Amino acid sequence: MRIIRSRTELATLVAQWRNAGETIGFVPTMGSLHNGHLTLVNALDGQATRRIVSIFVNPIQFDNAADFQLYPRGLEADAALLEGTGKVDVLYAPDGAEMYPEGFATRITVSGLDGMLCGSDRPGHFDGVATVVTKLLLQTGADIAAFGEKDYQQLCLIRRLVQDLNLPVRIKPVPTVREADGLALSSRNRRLTPQQREQAPSLPAALRACIADIQAGKAVDACLQSCRENLKSHGFNVHYLDLRSGDTLLATETLTPDARLFVAASLGDIRLIDNMAVA
Ligand code: AMP
Repeated sequence: MRIIRSRTELATLVAQWRNAGETIGFVPTMGSLHNGHLTLVNALDGQATRRIVSIFVNPIQFDNAADFQLYPRGLEADAALLEGTGKVDVLYAPDGAEMYPEGFATRITVSGLDGMLCGSDRPGHFDGVATVVTKLLLQTGADIAAFGEKDYQQLCLIRRLVQDLNLPVRIKPVPTVREADGLALSSRNRRLTPQQREQAPSLPAALRACIADIQAGKAVDACLQSCRENLKSHGFNVHYLDLRSGDTLLATETLTPDARLFVAASLGDIRLIDNMAVA
């Protein structure tokens, strides 16, 4: 596995691969890698002849400077994990100046999808995501790129932008990987105190209980309200809890086949997100 930090070095290698008729699979990440990320790498098995994983903690998608500073980082351990898979040809780890040189002024906005759920909760976040993902897809020349359903809204937004900008890449969705206690794997979990780590599985548990209530035919509003109270009683500050179409992300009052429950909630200053299909 080569570790590449420069855009031009990556471009040279990608051009060589292209000339040799290789196909490229890509997994963009912000590092601090866990099994969820490795599952994305595995999802590319048989889908491409070369694989690139990027690690870049993207400053322009953080609406909060402290959150950016505190985001967990550890390139050496990440490189060892990726090397251990035996599946990754390149770890691409550009620095901030490589991605956003002096004078950088462009933002990509995916209208509509960026103004709801995490978009309204974190202003500017999805412009930052759309911009960096577009750059990374162009830089890597990816034929296929894997994204986790853990960040379901991000997945919808990227599908939209790939379609709208005619980017020649296939987007592969990957179901959320969870700990045995149900907590969705996340780099941010490393920042939880032992006590918060004990509280955290109450988040997926509350979603499952809410889904059972909705499936039992109780009024959606009442189910959401009691789920919010459930989460508060377990120490969460609830940013949003919504039933939405998994297709359009529009709010739905009724149990449609594509309905999904979406939540963002914090324990202390650590913001966790999760989502689950209802039907
Ligand atoms: P991140 O490093 O958090 O930006 O995530 C990089 C990619 O890994 C995104 O496509 C995420 O959706 C995906 N990912 C993160 N956590 C999980 C998980 N628990 N299960 C599946 N995919 C995940």
